[in-house]
Amino acid sequence: MKKVLVVDDVPDNIELLRFDLEDDDFEVITASSGQECLKLAPLACPAIILLDIQMPGIDGIATLTRLKSNDITADIPVIMVSAEKGDDAIIQSLDLGAHDYVRKPIEYSILAARMRSALKLVEAKHHLEHANKELERLATLDFLTNTHNRRSFFNLAEGEFARFKRHHRDLSVIMLDADRFKSINDDYGHAAGDRALQALANTCRSLCRETDILSRLGGEEFALCCPETPLEGAAILAERIREACENAVIETDSGSLRFTVSIGITAATESDDDFAQVLNRADMLLYQAKHSGRNRTIASLQQPSSQGANALKNEI
Ligand code: GH3
Ligand code: MG
Ligand code: MG
Repeated sequence: MKKVLVVDDVPDNIELLRFDLEDDDFEVITASSGQECLKLAPLACPAIILLDIQMPGIDGIATLTRLKSNDITADIPVIMVSAEKGDDAIIQSLDLGAHDYVRKPIEYSILAARMRSALKLVEAKHHLEHANKELERLATLDFLTNTHNRRSFFNLAEGEFARFKRHHRDLSVIMLDADRFKSINDDYGHAAGDRALQALANTCRSLCRETDILSRLGGEEFALCCPETPLEGAAILAERIREACENAVIETDSGSLRFTVSIGITAATESDDDFAQVLNRADMLLYQAKHSGRNRTIASLQQPSSQGANALKNEI
């Protein structure tokens, strides 16, 4: 049942409307002045307000102005009720954000149609807001793991890097890759592999801070950007993730599945020009972890020499 707030200083006017509104399945709440309306509206959050223009004290126009400047009530559609002959107050109300108006004596069928139109518009706006949120979610999240996708990760991480440069705050980056994941897919099937990647994302999420930014950069490779975290802290977190993955057992139709991860960890330094440079170093350290036998973490502020790193990549 939709709630309508009827504001009028004459009780008989309210009672006349109440009958028709209740007949139309509205829940009617009332206020006999602008002051009372301004008190009640933010608490009751009606779906719509019928607001008399001529009232002693705070009149309808002043009440409307305050309703529209309060975040809680700004989006509630307001239909002005005018007893005046001229159009000035109506024009002013519409300019101030009233949805519509009716004249006294009120023709209920006209008022009802205008209320329907206002409520439809609000509903359409909510739909649009919901659709926009969903679009934003789809544009920024990885569909499989609900972590940030590559683009969203870079957007957020670059912002953190700018904060590091400006305010000299700690900033660490963890790069993680599932070991021999190809054989997991081969042995257990792609669907089981997908479930393992979801479990891996959930493990990372459950162990890191809410302010950390987790992303599946692609395939079975994840990155975690940790603001306000020095290298030692990130290394402890990475080791916890590695250990949790090693100990996790994922039940699938083809039997119990286990896998390990290799991790490279680094922190932003004054000589880094951009975030990509930090991420690249973490990636090189990850390759080193693979080369050193997998299922391990390597943390360093030093970039492995590019020759050595390329040699490592080729070996793997
Ligand atoms: P390494 O230890 O060297 O990382 O070995 P690896 O097999 O994990 O590495 P490689 O990069 O050669 O292969 C990655 C494999 O990960 C390929 C593919 O089978 C699997 N993979 C990538 N993306 C997905 C995905 O979205 N779902 C599933 N199930 N598997 C994926
Ligand atoms: Mg891998
Ligand atoms: Mg890989």
